[in-house]
Amino acid sequence: MANKKEVGTPASDFSKDAPELKQAANLHQGMFDAVLSRLDMAFSKLNPSFNFQQVIKSPQKQVVVSLPVMMDDGKLQVFQGYRVIHSTALGPSKGGIRYAMDVDIDEVKALAAWMTFKCAIANIPYGGAKGGITCDPRKLSVGELERLTRAYTTAMADVFGVDKDIPAPDMGTGKREMAWIVDTYSKIHRVDAPGVVTGKPLTLGGSKGREAATGRGVMISCLEAMKKTGMDRKNATCAIQGFGNVGSNAAKLLNSKGIKVLAISDHTAGIFNPKGIDIDAAINYAKENGGMLKGFPGGENITNEELLLADVDVMVPAAVQNVITEHIAKNMKAKLVIEGANGPTLSEADAILFERGITVVPDILANGGGVTVSYFEWVQNKYGHYWTEDEVNTKHDASMSAAFENVWFNAKQYKTNLRTGAYITALKKLEKAVAYRGNY
Ligand code: NAD
Repeated sequence: MANKKEVGTPASDFSKDAPELKQAANLHQGMFDAVLSRLDMAFSKLNPSFNFQQVIKSPQKQVVVSLPVMMDDGKLQVFQGYRVIHSTALGPSKGGIRYAMDVDIDEVKALAAWMTFKCAIANIPYGGAKGGITCDPRKLSVGELERLTRAYTTAMADVFGVDKDIPAPDMGTGKREMAWIVDTYSKIHRVDAPGVVTGKPLTLGGSKGREAATGRGVMISCLEAMKKTGMDRKNATCAIQGFGNVGSNAAKLLNSKGIKVLAISDHTAGIFNPKGIDIDAAINYAKENGGMLKGFPGGENITNEELLLADVDVMVPAAVQNVITEHIAKNMKAKLVIEGANGPTLSEADAILFERGITVVPDILANGGGVTVSYFEWVQNKYGHYWTEDEVNTKHDASMSAAFENVWFNAKQYKTNLRTGAYITALKKLEKAVAYRGNY
């Protein structure tokens, strides 16, 4: 790996590749187009009815709101908020809420569509949605974040609903924001509605196992893919981009299965250690440093590009979209990619990875563990009866393995890669649901 620095030096060199990465991350302008092109690929194999193709290509509802929020300095700032409901063919819509500067309607539309496919693959009775606010949550105080979240919930009070549309955390949000959402929604509607949002704190009706669920699903997907491709788990190594909810939990769980994590990164730093990174130490370090890895002394500093091209067996992108470009795909050394993030691979890169024999477990399968346990949380809220962590994890693991098997089967049957296999798995189910419902 080129340009490595001495162990423990600050990640100053990391910022060098940040503009490129930002530029890559900004490629989301075409994100919904990327969904459409991948749908077309699956349509060409599956040949579903033209009526269904039209329905599934068109998001059902798009809501855009302006959110005036009083900032700590006494000035008013108006934020843009979005909620896109892509489909309710299989049930109430489900999908996280993202706080990031590059959130826009195109990105939210793509993420909502992926939720529809993800829920269908995970075999849970939900449609797909996504929400977001264009903001930099790291630059807002807790008070500003609370006012913004409550303003957004108020604006979406008639969109959300326990049997209608159920948000959850995504990038930049977590259990704290979910608690504000359930509280605001319950006050507006004068009901106790814990099931209106998932990913809540345990004391407000959250589910055991939810916080680590997406990372856990990444781990199960990785183990299943290793079994299918005959990869030896004992001596396997991996690299993980992103060290938030998904990345840090995936790192911990993969490590617990003996897969050595050689490289990790977040938006502030990249770290490589050929002997394996001490994941608990990295998690504790990030906790004490405002969630950031910058300055973590457990390895050499590397850039994001170096991480993606690291000499490891498994690559786990778990941060932002569009990071696996054609250049990365051509030069990647990993043999297996497990997409923890949504949309980390550009369509053009997909073809290259396939040609090079690199197996990609697509986002709509690999990161479905989060929504699976969100569904378990919603079920527990409806019953008012709560499961142990073991019960949750056992049900989750069985569900993820079954989803993996189904996608693998369809990929083989239609002689295609796992991504198209995953789309086919979802579309088969959705086509039936749309046909049964009929049109008027
Ligand atoms: P998070 O906010 O908890 O963490 C995001 C991480 O990515 C942070 O460590 C951040 O520093 C890092 N990051 C941001 N920009 C980066 C960059 N340019 N380079 C390297 N690292 C960067 O978010 P999360 O919930 O872990 O979500 C990560 C991804 O997983 C997103 O694509 C999200 O849509 C997807 N996802 C999340 C869930 C969930 O349950 N949280 C479920 C399914 C999919």
